[in-house]
Amino acid sequence: MDLTRIRIVLVQTSHPGNIGAAARAMKNMGLTKLILVNPKDYPSGVALGRAASALDILDNAEVVDSLDAAIANCGLVIGTSARSRSIPWPMVEPDECAQKLVTASGQNDVALVFGREDRGLSNDELQLCHFHVQIPANEDYSSLNVAAAVMVLSYEIRKAFLRAVDSQTKVSDSIVSSESLEVNWDQPLATVADIESFLAHLEKVLIRLDFHDPENPRQLMSRLRRLCTRIRPDTMEINILRGILTSTEQQLDKKPNPQE
Ligand code: SAH
Repeated sequence: MDLTRIRIVLVQTSHPGNIGAAARAMKNMGLTKLILVNPKDYPSGVALGRAASALDILDNAEVVDSLDAAIANCGLVIGTSARSRSIPWPMVEPDECAQKLVTASGQNDVALVFGREDRGLSNDELQLCHFHVQIPANEDYSSLNVAAAVMVLSYEIRKAFLRAVDSQTKVSDSIVSSESLEVNWDQPLATVADIESFLAHLEKVLIRLDFHDPENPRQLMSRLRRLCTRIRPDTMEINILRGILTSTEQQLDKKPNPQE
């Protein structure tokens, strides 16, 4: 486990004060890597003021222009949401979220993604994540300030990290197979970028096979994306699947066109 491999990603934050407060929360809890996706008003003196002694986190923060760029090289991505969304996705509790991030950070870069103050994360953004986490707040008012949400989940990460250090083992007895996968596997997990290129390739082949009609997509690609993120393929498995797609394309190229 390696806290420097756990990145906090803030998507299109409107208020620079929230960026500063998030940086402070991160530093309090021992996290260092902050990525800002298209912040509305940044750099900003307000962010510096709210960061207090966490200026180093802001100094080292990376600004990127898409969520894909922020998480491309990550093997595990967890998205946060104040409410449930249209297509059900694998959910984890805050403590389980922290445990997964801490464990997976031993082998992979990992990310915890936070949304906009007014609209949270879009469905497309949430579908890039392997799991979703919701802080079980008051049902009558479940939406926390984004920096407060960063604090709550960073604290969970801190607790999971301290528990792991304390027990001197990376994995506790109760952990299910997906964590052993993150620790003991022979191949690194596929990154978000690997899965995205596989899905783009798969979509292309499914269109050629007339299995998928982009004019009438239903939820095919979303469901295949959910399947891929749920099974967490490793790099070798993704390479095999890509090879199968390439062979399928080669066979299709050979097939005589029935119209000719
Ligand atoms: N109205 C928005 C709320 C956004 S709150 C919506 O319905 O989605 C801004 C961000 O704070 C969210 O995108 C999420 O990253 C975080 N957040 C707020 N409340 C949360 C909760 N209960 N659980 C997890 N994250 C939360």
